Amino acid sequence: MSDDCLFCKIIAGEIPSNKVYSDDDVYAFHDINAAAPQHILIVPKKHLDDITHAGAEDQALLGKLLLRANKIAQDQGLTENGFRYVINTGKDGGQTVSHVHLHILGGRRMQWPPG
Ligand code: 5GP
Ligand code: ZN
Repeated sequence: MSDDCLFCKIIAGEIPSNKVYSDDDVYAFHDINAAAPQHILIVPKKHLDDITHAGAEDQALLGKLLLRANKIAQDQGLTENGFRYVINTGKDGGQTVSHVHLHILGGRRMQWPPG
C-alpha cells in the first residue's frame, strides 16, 4: 500500500468503487470515466508504480492478472466480438494513475492507431 495512491485507497475500500472482482492478489472495478461501453480496470493489490517496476518476483502475479482479465472479458460477453487491453505507461503513454492497471475496453469497434 502506498499512502498517496488512489488505486491503493480504492483497493483498501477507503475510496468507493464499483467492484467487478477481488481476490488476494488482484482487484477489478469499473472505470469512473468509461472510454467504451464496457471499461473495467484490473490492478494488482501490490503497489507497482507502472509495469516497468515489475520484477521477476511479480511474474506469477502478472500472469494471474492477465488470466483473470480474460475471465472478466468472457464474463462480460466481450470475447465473441473482441475487446482491447491497454496498459498506459509513463507520461508519453498517457498514464495518469501511478499504480499499474490493465484497461479492459469493449462494446464498440476500437480505432487503430490509438490517439
Ligand atoms: P490511465 O490514464 O492512468 O491509464 O488510467 C487511469 C484510469 O483511472 C482512467 O481511465 C480514469 O478514468 C480512471 N480513474 C481515475 N480516478 C478514478 C476513480 O476514482 N475511480 C475509478 N473507478 N476510476 C478512476
Ligand atoms: Zn497503489
